[in-house]
Amino acid sequence: MSINPDTFKTNHLPTWCPGCGNFGIWLALKNALAELGIGTDDGVCVYGVGCHGNMYDWMKIYGVAALHGRTLPVAQGLKAANPALPVMVISGDGDGLGEGGNHFINAAKRNADISVFIHDNQVYGLTTGQASPTANIGFKTKSTPEGVIDEPLNPLALAITAGATFVARGFSGDIPGLTALMKAAIEHKGFSVVDILQPCVTFDKIHTYAWYRQRLYNMETPDTKIKALELAMEWGDKIPVGIFYKEERQSPKEESAKPVNLDELLAEFI
Ligand code: SF4
Repeated sequence: MSINPDTFKTNHLPTWCPGCGNFGIWLALKNALAELGIGTDDGVCVYGVGCHGNMYDWMKIYGVAALHGRTLPVAQGLKAANPALPVMVISGDGDGLGEGGNHFINAAKRNADISVFIHDNQVYGLTTGQASPTANIGFKTKSTPEGVIDEPLNPLALAITAGATFVARGFSGDIPGLTALMKAAIEHKGFSVVDILQPCVTFDKIHTYAWYRQRLYNMETPDTKIKALELAMEWGDKIPVGIFYKEERQSPKEESAKPVNLDELLAEFI
């Protein structure tokens, strides 16, 4: 049976707010998997806690709903047990970079062969709109009524400096562009990150689709890490999207990993 985006349909309809950027990410992920020929039994998604994590119910593929901020330990365990398995992490800016920030840094450092898709909307939408680690200065939310006063965390710069070997930024309003980035990330051998700019239409009236469309531009992948970091720091009137950094570097752990025989392993403890 041929694999197409509808292959991943379940009986559940999304409960996201109409117009939410999560829809575009969901569609791009289904496109990417179908184009790569990864079927419902061929890969696994690990979901964090947040509006993004609700995708678990309407995405027909093996899935694990992780604890808040704990997607990456689960994902790395899955990968260690079965190195051939495509492992994708569906995370948010709050879940992945707030509660899960330490895991993010260390998984990047060891270049774990996992693809991380960050649904980056600057807010904790599921808990009705508090500022997340990526919220821009001045952004007024329920938790920051006078506006955010601290510098936002930069997922791209963090990933590059921590050791990720594929770092990209996409936009949930550009389905073809995002599909291509997600495909490249899944195909990459090593820790791949796609930071996906995603409007939260309910709790953020500033960073709308129009706001992003006025600023986003497609860039060429820079040829050095320093240039990648310079571009990663660009934010304001112009915001670059595309692949910022790519490097071939095999993870020593994955290199030596063999599929685990669970029966033999458990027998050691009996
Ligand atoms: Fe999407 Fe925001 Fe609604 Fe959550 S609260 S479903 S992120 S629009």
